[in-house]
Amino acid sequence: MEMLNQLKQQLQALAEQDLIRTRRTVDTPCGPRVSVDGRELLAFCTNDYLGLANHRSIKLALQEGAAMYGVGSGASHLISGHGRAHAMLEERLVEFVGAHLVSPRALTFCTGYMANLAIITGLTAADRDADIFSESLNHASLIDGARLSRANVKVYPHADLEALAQLLAASNAATKLVVTDSVFSMDGDLAPLPQLLALCEQYGAWLVVDDAHGFGTLGDNGHGALEHFKLRSPNLVYMGTLGKAAGVSGAFVAAHETVIETLIQKARPYIFTTATPPALAHALLTSLELLEGDEGRNRRAQLQALVAQLDDGLRLKRWRRMPSMTAIQPILIGDNAETMRAGAALYEQGLWVGTIRPPTVAPGTSRLRVTLSAGHSSMEVAKLIAAINALERT
Ligand code: PMP
Repeated sequence: MEMLNQLKQQLQALAEQDLIRTRRTVDTPCGPRVSVDGRELLAFCTNDYLGLANHRSIKLALQEGAAMYGVGSGASHLISGHGRAHAMLEERLVEFVGAHLVSPRALTFCTGYMANLAIITGLTAADRDADIFSESLNHASLIDGARLSRANVKVYPHADLEALAQLLAASNAATKLVVTDSVFSMDGDLAPLPQLLALCEQYGAWLVVDDAHGFGTLGDNGHGALEHFKLRSPNLVYMGTLGKAAGVSGAFVAAHETVIETLIQKARPYIFTTATPPALAHALLTSLELLEGDEGRNRRAQLQALVAQLDDGLRLKRWRRMPSMTAIQPILIGDNAETMRAGAALYEQGLWVGTIRPPTVAPGTSRLRVTLSAGHSSMEVAKLIAAINALERT
């Protein structure tokens, strides 16, 4: 069939550029140590930054949640799928991040991808002439949300406050959204949120912060990037994910209650989908408890110690460790094939590190994306460091 041949040719073209993505089937729970095809591996590629994805208390809470609420929610939130557990989770999330907002309210979503689509399409639904100012390294879900909104999208270069200020100054739109990752998912660095917020307040724009990789890991209490930078403003629209440091699944938006009410009324990724199983919301209550307590604090301290160890131990000449103080520690290689070879060589040694290529990152900037977890020991990180140092010299 002609159409099938076309697809095959496209796949062939990807293969020729070393851009084919493959999946590995993991037989054990997510964690710092996993098993694939009967092989034990150290996983330096998950977003389970605090090692909570297989935490005993959260697993027990999930079982308890299933016993209390059953398995499926049975409907979307606006029909009959909004359960007591979802409502309690929303209240708890307001306690988490509400201090940084004005008249705060929270709303949970099935995934961060959907939450981002919802924020951007929901806030621009009433204004087709809205302007969206999107940071160039934003996550795909923010980019897709901007596309779906049909508003005007202006991309500003990475962390370029000057360029953003000029774009904002030139905008006549009544609705302005500045949209950014807080921790850049493939680079690990932090957006200059205080300065971005100052610009948003000056020009009357919303600052949409995607804290997928900061929620749980940043701030003394794990409340995320807003706590880390000590920000508070009515202009903030905050998105946190619950499937990374929090160890479970899902996401939430927290913002002024009017913003949240707008999302409930207008945001199609909220309205037209089945609510998550309430047991997940119930399990997340335990996860949040852990994040805020001593256990979370100790795990964040361990994570920071491992980041410092990596920084200290890597001795790279051709490759480059990208500047990052977060759990995301990319090593820039550049060439696709060399990146794949490095990933395969590490894997041979039982070290599973993500290999990131275009289109996820810009051409010529392929990299190893090392992610650290509080579940790793310093001996395990030492093993990774030695392997990467040796590999670069071969
Ligand atoms: N935003 C960022 C910055 C992300 O890295 C991700 C997930 N990789 C998401 C949003 C989407 O979150 P989820 O996986 O919950 O859909």
